Amino acid sequence: MSRRLRMGMVGGGPGAFIGPVHKMAAELDGKIQLVAGAFSQSAERSRAAGLSFGIDPSRAYASYQAMIDAETKREDGIDFVVIATPNHLHLPVAEAALSAGIAVMSDKPATATYDEALKLEAVVASAGLPYGLTHTYAGYSLVREARSLCAAEALGPIRKVAVEYLQGWLSRPLETTGQKQAAWRSDPALNGPGGCIGDIGTHAFHLVEYVTGLKVTSMNAALRTVVPGRKLDDDCNALLRLEGGASGTLMCSQVAAGERNGLRLRVYGEKGSIEWHQEDPNRLSVKWLDGPEETRHAAGGYLSPDALAVTRLPGGHPEGYIEAFAVLYREFADGLIAWRKDNACVLPAMLPGIQAGVRGMRFIERAIESSRIEAWVEF
Ligand code: NAD
Repeated sequence: MSRRLRMGMVGGGPGAFIGPVHKMAAELDGKIQLVAGAFSQSAERSRAAGLSFGIDPSRAYASYQAMIDAETKREDGIDFVVIATPNHLHLPVAEAALSAGIAVMSDKPATATYDEALKLEAVVASAGLPYGLTHTYAGYSLVREARSLCAAEALGPIRKVAVEYLQGWLSRPLETTGQKQAAWRSDPALNGPGGCIGDIGTHAFHLVEYVTGLKVTSMNAALRTVVPGRKLDDDCNALLRLEGGASGTLMCSQVAAGERNGLRLRVYGEKGSIEWHQEDPNRLSVKWLDGPEETRHAAGGYLSPDALAVTRLPGGHPEGYIEAFAVLYREFADGLIAWRKDNACVLPAMLPGIQAGVRGMRFIERAIESSRIEAWVEF
């Protein structure tokens, strides 16, 4: 394709967290350009965001419906929509775009509830259009290396998994101060029923299944709300059982004071184990039962083809969050370009899509149920 793919964003208004990250990541490889958006539910704020992003002011819309209506009538209309809003809008925006023949890249969680995710799965299937989900951590080269090691059974059969995602930013009732990221995340109507378990637990859950290639089959979760007056969970511990007999723990919290974005995964097989930290993403520790411990570095020529395929810089030039995000966009762009050519929707296998979205929503629903009945639940 001789031109860049045209992206329309929903969300990402003034002061938003992830919308601007989507723009940076989408445009990093020169395959995509932000050209339109409904950046806020306020027309004025949408216009202000459009100006700051440098798009044609006439393409900063007052609502996502207006954007889809206008853009489908243009010859140079958008090729896909990115959804970077609070969770309650993920389904309606995705549905409106897909029904209008526009592909979707959505931020996680896929929807606000599990029932919505099932509905979205049907919409995606009947539209036959590309749908990607930005589980950012799947874009790191050393996460791909860990996945390759598991796929090649280098560690032997997997016996144990330990994943934790610890943040401290909700240690106080920030939502009562008007802080916008905290406000919608603490409101069940805008966020959905899973608080911390949905916001970051889904990332941890996705990482486990993505790296090991094993599905979680049952879970015993304990969710609680630590900060008085908060309407949703902010702290969770869960025991997992996985296919093949492995067991695991998943811990997530947004009241772990002092923690910033502490996502850490450990996977133990019969012969060895791996350990990866999101805050130190250019190193993967590989420990062997019968050999010395290794540290694999990003961009090392010895890495797997899957890891090297998503490496941009020579070793010692750290890649981070934006680059990992950009990997997902590059794969989405490749899938969309292929779809435009052949009209067959086959996204790269490494890119999380609707299946991962449904799994994530099932995880939230199961965790809430397990915690409510204080017992193991099947998936
Ligand atoms: P945010 O509050 O910072 O931004 C949300 C934006 O959506 C705001 O600009 C708001 O004005 C806009 N918005 C609300 N209603 C709208 C509407 N009707 N039309 C258009 N825009 C509207 O939230 P955030 O932290 O950026 O999170 C947004 C989404 O991204 C959430 O689903 C969250 O789970 C996800 N997220 C993902 C990651 C990741 O690592 N992949 C990280 C952070 C957030």
